[in-house]
Amino acid sequence: MTSQELQQLDQAYIAHTYARFSLCVDRGQGATCWSPEGKRYIDFSSGIGVNSLGFCDADWVRAVSEQAGKLQHISNLYYTEPCARLAEMLCARTGMKKVFFCNSGAEANEGAIKTARKYSFDKYGAGRSEIIALHNSFHGRTMATLSATGQAVYHNFFFPFVEDYRFVASGDLEELKGAVSGRTCAVMMELIQGEGGVIAQDAAYVQAVAALCAERDLLLIVDEVQTGIGRTGRLLACEHYGIQPDVVTIAKGIGGGLPLGAVLFGEKAQDVLGCGHHGTTFGGNPVACAGGQVVLRKLDEAMLSQVREKAAYLWEKAAALPRVAAVTGLGLMVGIEAAGKSAKDVAADAIEHGLIVLTAKDKVRLLPPLTISYEELDQGLAALEKALQ
Ligand SMILES: *Cc1c(COP(=O)(O)O)cnc(C)c1O
Repeated sequence: MTSQELQQLDQAYIAHTYARFSLCVDRGQGATCWSPEGKRYIDFSSGIGVNSLGFCDADWVRAVSEQAGKLQHISNLYYTEPCARLAEMLCARTGMKKVFFCNSGAEANEGAIKTARKYSFDKYGAGRSEIIALHNSFHGRTMATLSATGQAVYHNFFFPFVEDYRFVASGDLEELKGAVSGRTCAVMMELIQGEGGVIAQDAAYVQAVAALCAERDLLLIVDEVQTGIGRTGRLLACEHYGIQPDVVTIAKGIGGGLPLGAVLFGEKAQDVLGCGHHGTTFGGNPVACAGGQVVLRKLDEAMLSQVREKAAYLWEKAAALPRVAAVTGLGLMVGIEAAGKSAKDVAADAIEHGLIVLTAKDKVRLLPPLTISYEELDQGLAALEKALQ
């Protein structure tokens, strides 16, 4: 099928919820992919931070293929090894105590929100259900996670939203302190706001919030759906901030390309959700978990240190490009403020020059595969320089 035929077919039958760029992708290898006509693109997006090992990593392909040929699914009524092993690896690497597997970031955040409310209900009874979140946050597209998302543009049409969320400005500790009341059960935040424009939070603020949560017995929920799984050069961004949250949510990068999300529970939260309190048909799928194990195994200290080196390289080169006004974010989660051109226009022109980039509000956003080569980085940067003009 040609790109033109594919676009016509898609537009005829797929609901128009995405403003797709005019690009059809047929196959990929590493951080490079090709259109049906064979045009080559450098990928600075990893999907949206999903393909952490790039396209079609050989070990990942082997593990998921073998698992698909052995047992592809058997519901959460029974035990399967890939699921249990991946949970063990996640706990060993993060210091968290228990795992609930689901299929996406929004679902992971739903699980976290339910956990916070039940933790509080179990201990204090009804009426302590408010969750404090940050302005400019993004937590997902389901009703509860949209409600937790602190951007007015998402709060339309779908009324009524879920109750009991309160928003405060990132970095303003006094405002947060003032917002906490006898009705508060949790604080929920991203450490680097991704969709909000790739904005890293202040470490002293985050540490003070963690201390406040501990003091007032509020669950601290950190949404690492975008920042987690090596994206920032540490397995979790929490490590940069020196905090150990009560609940961490992950998704995007953990499956290496298959739908997989997880809620990680710390000491306080580990026994809150019991039998029948939460569940999902597909969660912990053996094929997805087999892929997740490869991602975690490959993402050892040596590879994380390579991620930090590549990030330093990318930051330096990007900052030196003409028309780059600022570079924000952390590690391989990069926001670029382009002078005199909208992020959307840069992204569209990048495709013309053989490069895939993302946007986040007014920023050009780069989330390259963690395995990207320096050669691919250089080729992508050369294309980005042209797209910025
Ligand atoms: C992408 C994202 C989500 C939503 O994840 P989905 O898999 O699209 O449901 C939630 N939180 C953050 C921080 C994200 O970046």
